[in-house]
Amino acid sequence: MSVRVRFAPSPTGALHIGGIRTALYNYLFAKKHDGAFILRIEDTDQNRFVKGAESYIEQALDWAGITPDEGVSAGGDYGPYKQSERKERYKRFSDQLIADGKAYLAFDTPDELDAMRERLKEARVANPQYNAITRMQMRNSLTLSSDEVNELIAQGQPYVVRIKLPRNEDVRFKDLVRGWVVVNTATMDDKVLLKSDGMPTYHLANIVDDHQMEISHVIRGEEWLPSAPLHVLLYEYLGWEKPEFAHLPLLLKPDGNGKLSKRAADKLGFPIFPLNWTDPVTQELSKGFMEEGYLSDAFINFLALLGWNPGGEKELFRMEDLIQLFSLEKINKAGAKFDIEKAKWFNEQYLKSKSSKVLAEEFISLLDQPVDEKKAISIVESLKERVTFVKDMIEAGRFFFEAPQTYDEKTVRKKWNQLAVDKLNGFSDRLKDKDQIEKEEARELLMSYLAEDETPLGRVMPALRLALTGQAGGPDLMAIIEILGPTEVTNRIKKATDTIALND
Ligand code: GLU
Repeated sequence: MSVRVRFAPSPTGALHIGGIRTALYNYLFAKKHDGAFILRIEDTDQNRFVKGAESYIEQALDWAGITPDEGVSAGGDYGPYKQSERKERYKRFSDQLIADGKAYLAFDTPDELDAMRERLKEARVANPQYNAITRMQMRNSLTLSSDEVNELIAQGQPYVVRIKLPRNEDVRFKDLVRGWVVVNTATMDDKVLLKSDGMPTYHLANIVDDHQMEISHVIRGEEWLPSAPLHVLLYEYLGWEKPEFAHLPLLLKPDGNGKLSKRAADKLGFPIFPLNWTDPVTQELSKGFMEEGYLSDAFINFLALLGWNPGGEKELFRMEDLIQLFSLEKINKAGAKFDIEKAKWFNEQYLKSKSSKVLAEEFISLLDQPVDEKKAISIVESLKERVTFVKDMIEAGRFFFEAPQTYDEKTVRKKWNQLAVDKLNGFSDRLKDKDQIEKEEARELLMSYLAEDETPLGRVMPALRLALTGQAGGPDLMAIIEILGPTEVTNRIKKATDTIALND
């Protein structure tokens, strides 16, 4: 059997990080087994439709490198890939279920349904359901005669189609993450399959599409686990072979206390969406991982390990490695704590390994002043091991563009003395006639100069750094000298020796 999996988001808003993880696991599983990864847009619920959400989903997957083999944009032999374009496919199956006695028409009005729930509540039924018992007191094709039903239909009375669940039967299926799942139909609802406007509900559309698209494995979030027994029964009633199921663990708040929500993420100040999202109604902007400065491969690596682990100590995996190693058996049952510090750590690792030329392009685009490419590359090279995001280089590298206005007080107190100042001036003299200097040459020049009277390096280097950057720490000092160039270095030494008061 060939592997065909789908990611089936509803375009009801921005895709949350949990959605991207579901897409990623589907993608990894498909690629691992030379199968197909399908993007299906589940837009049967027009009330919840949000403008821009569908293109957001495509852009987010594109940024993350999760490329569908089939879908609305990719095309494919099983289209259309949008449920609103498949409308006419569903009704015939609800008709079939009715004909087979597995579904029925229900004419109850919202008021009648409310009254039923009230009655059940009063009778202290904890979880009021439309089920094998209650349906016999309602207005449906099980309690009305066929003449009455036909009459209501002829009058144009609205009705829905509900699945007819047995009163007390175990539904069992094996979930590839959770093992055997057993649910008794006594705890389930006769869910609506076809709405009064003739549109299918999620449940009917989802399984018809999965069947027609020959989906082999349904890999989706744990929030869909309660729907799975219903889906299993629908496959059975329609005489179809059911796919394998794998329900992924929840993403939890950093403290492990409850589900990760947008509210929680906002409160803790980290993104929950892959890309920026502006709510079309409130115009509220939510920052995305991309715009916050995360590299997509770091984001993917981080996400892959939220709920799955191949075992062992290794943590850095690129997409190709993830594909090779991925298996559903290694998905955890327990929820995965979302740790933004870990996401940052991954970004640091990937940033280091990126070419400085590529990073320099982004750096240049963020700068508010022109800089030549060669200089930008050298700056990025000197800073990329010291920051989390490219945008951090702007602040961390400010001294490359302007002489310090202030000097780190502690270093002044501890390291700025007559000896240091003399040596800085001496070094400055030796640099004076040069147009440029490479860092190795700068190092040799400084070392040989200090070696003349055996001045220890530690007596001079902190003062030199202070004069050039104003700071106590930072990137390789010789690289800084190379980037600033001899003239700027001598100017800054002069400025520092003129302005900083001496300590004894
Ligand atoms: N449309 C559902 C969602 O928005 C899909 C659930 C499933 O994968 O079956 O997540």
